[in-house]
Amino acid sequence: MDRPLNVAVIGRQGSGKGTQARLLSERLALTHLSTGDLLRREATGNGSAAEVIRGYLEAGALVPDAVVDGLVARAVREAPAGCVFDGYPRTPAQVDVLDRLVRLDVVIELDLRSSEALARLAARRVCMRCDAIDRAPLGRETITCRSCGGSMVRRHDDHAQAAMRRLDAYDRATAPLLAAYERRGLLVHVDAAQPVDAVAADVLHAVVTTSPSLATSA
Ligand code: ADP
Repeated sequence: MDRPLNVAVIGRQGSGKGTQARLLSERLALTHLSTGDLLRREATGNGSAAEVIRGYLEAGALVPDAVVDGLVARAVREAPAGCVFDGYPRTPAQVDVLDRLVRLDVVIELDLRSSEALARLAARRVCMRCDAIDRAPLGRETITCRSCGGSMVRRHDDHAQAAMRRLDAYDRATAPLLAAYERRGLLVHVDAAQPVDAVAADVLHAVVTTSPSLATSA
């Protein structure tokens, strides 16, 4: 590939943004840059910085730009082929920072109604051992991981109050960014209510269509 390819995947919590960003990055050999994953990793440390980040994550509040931007800049430097951005940018200031770091080729919005997003977050469980994600049947708090047999629990920020706060932050801070990307001709909508494979196919199609140099390789 002659120049890096950079794609941002934006969507409500529960829209499958993490899954789709991972699949796309594997398919195109790009780096999957998830700010949620980077922050959760930072939050496992012992120092006071880690403790501050933990506080934001558990409350479902946006972590201050200064922290997030630094992590993103470092990860971009380590990704010469380009990135699939997952969870970044989420604020107008982050849009500016990202514009200075890379040239975005396409921005995918995964469309999902807020009511469906809340239902998905309420059912989502994460494996404590292997990080796999699955859906719990209604009324079941803990389930067993189909991949490794580990225990699957609810993410701290998937509890109702934090989940609603995150969805609210999406509507207030992140959704307005999409209009700006639309004006720049970068935005493509994908229906996230479809099965995972169908969403993945639409996402890949959108990227290949907007990046003709990929049409033969993908
Ligand atoms: P979701 O999109 O479902 O909330 P993520 O794993 O992407 O899940 O993010 C989890 C949390 O990490 C967010 O609720 C927020 O606290 C923090 N976070 C992630 N990305 C950003 C960002 N770009 N700016 C500020 N905070 C962020």
